[in-house]
Amino acid sequence: MINLLRFMAATALIVQAVIGLTFLISSIWEREKRASIFAALQFLGMLGLVIFFFYLQSIDFFDTAFGIFCLWATLISGLVGFYLLVRKTAWNQKALEGSKGLIAGPVKRQDEREHVFARNRALRPGSDQYKKFYQTHPDWEESDAARRQKGGPIGHPGTIDSPHGDANVAAALASLNIPLYLSSPEKVKPQAHPHFNSEKFIMAPEEATVRIKGFTRHLGADLVGITKLDPLWVYSRRGEIFHENWDDWGREIETNHKFAIVFTEEMSLDMVGTGPHTPTTLESMRDYAQGAHIAAQLAAFIANLGYATANHLRHYECMLVPLAVDAGLGELGRLGYLVTKEYGPRVRLGAVTSDIPLIPDKPVDIGMEDFCKVCKKCALCCPSGSIPMEDPTVVNGTLRWKLYAETCFEYWGKVGTDCNVCMRVCPWSHARTFPHKLIVALVSRNMIARRLFTVMDDIFYGKNPKAKLVNNWATYKPWKTKKR
Ligand code: SF4
Ligand code: SF4
Repeated sequence: MINLLRFMAATALIVQAVIGLTFLISSIWEREKRASIFAALQFLGMLGLVIFFFYLQSIDFFDTAFGIFCLWATLISGLVGFYLLVRKTAWNQKALEGSKGLIAGPVKRQDEREHVFARNRALRPGSDQYKKFYQTHPDWEESDAARRQKGGPIGHPGTIDSPHGDANVAAALASLNIPLYLSSPEKVKPQAHPHFNSEKFIMAPEEATVRIKGFTRHLGADLVGITKLDPLWVYSRRGEIFHENWDDWGREIETNHKFAIVFTEEMSLDMVGTGPHTPTTLESMRDYAQGAHIAAQLAAFIANLGYATANHLRHYECMLVPLAVDAGLGELGRLGYLVTKEYGPRVRLGAVTSDIPLIPDKPVDIGMEDFCKVCKKCALCCPSGSIPMEDPTVVNGTLRWKLYAETCFEYWGKVGTDCNVCMRVCPWSHARTFPHKLIVALVSRNMIARRLFTVMDDIFYGKNPKAKLVNNWATYKPWKTKKR
């Protein structure tokens, strides 16, 4: 029995030392200096304990009554700690209801014309649309005019890194052209290929679901889920105008599609790690381009089977975050974005709506609401104070954290990028190396783990982590040319 006890204690210590070592390797690989130092200290501490254990063993300490008592005490406290950390705490029933779990009163469908991007891009001073909109929304006219004067929500692109980051702006704008091109009416509502015009596919929902999800992943999506389309999350009227299609402005959006296929693409950790500098915007735009490319092809595929509309940057008919929550891709975080278990908030979304019969997924509970209540890191680090520190409040009939979009865009305008600091600092955004996967597995099921790892994150990464450099082609610092 004593031998078994010794063996278990030695194994537990060695396993902890090995986990400490994986933390150290992971932190070095992530180029996180501070985390590497703390991980090294942690690893050395565990290694010291292992050595001390074998020293005590060599002097027969564990043969004494006190030694046996120490072994038992260590083992029991270890087991209790392990149990407290891994047991599943009560499910959050609201999270399992998806977006319905957030509803706390009457919800008015959002009019896309009121969206800051639509206001800025579609309302040209002097036009009929401009006069009509500001007659009913006079409070926004002055601030919108001032924003337009400064160049729109992103102001002068790349201001924060100018002139060294101008090449990153050039690359970001190149990617932005793709969603613009793919937002033409025939591409967001593709017609079936002539080969399929007279034929209607009859396919069981199970098969259609497998084929559609598989094709979406094949096109490059990292996560894909399906939900029944809740009409509450469909914009009531179109507000964005492209290709001079002015008849579209104010057009009522029909909600006759029954399903939404929602997908995410991971954003590069290195690039997001630079936020609010230009590489992060380059990455956002690359992801939007990829999302538009996936959505357009997926919609064309479904159009050949039935009918579909692509939703991507520059052409949204739906609000994608609540749809993604309903499709089981993650939960809404304090920062106002979707937070996924696999990549945290470090994702961009796209969707295709359709009436082809599919099997919907179920919303998930990954512990976000509880985690965000204690964490608050995004709110503390947000340079414009746009993320609330308080508990969720009721916004248009939904109980959630309200992001102050106007001040957030003010900051974007100042730096000339889409910032992404909140995304960068979120503890769920770390690389999915073994130790981080282990932490996510624990925090998504256990309340104590959530509290423990918010503190650990502050220790390892700092309360307000700094933006990183990218030592590659997308650098935003003066280019260093090697001497010949
Ligand atoms: S994008 Fe930047 S300014 Fe906007 S909420 Fe996030 S951290 Fe704040
Ligand atoms: S930083 Fe913290 S509070 Fe903000 S979304 Fe991430 S987990 Fe939630």
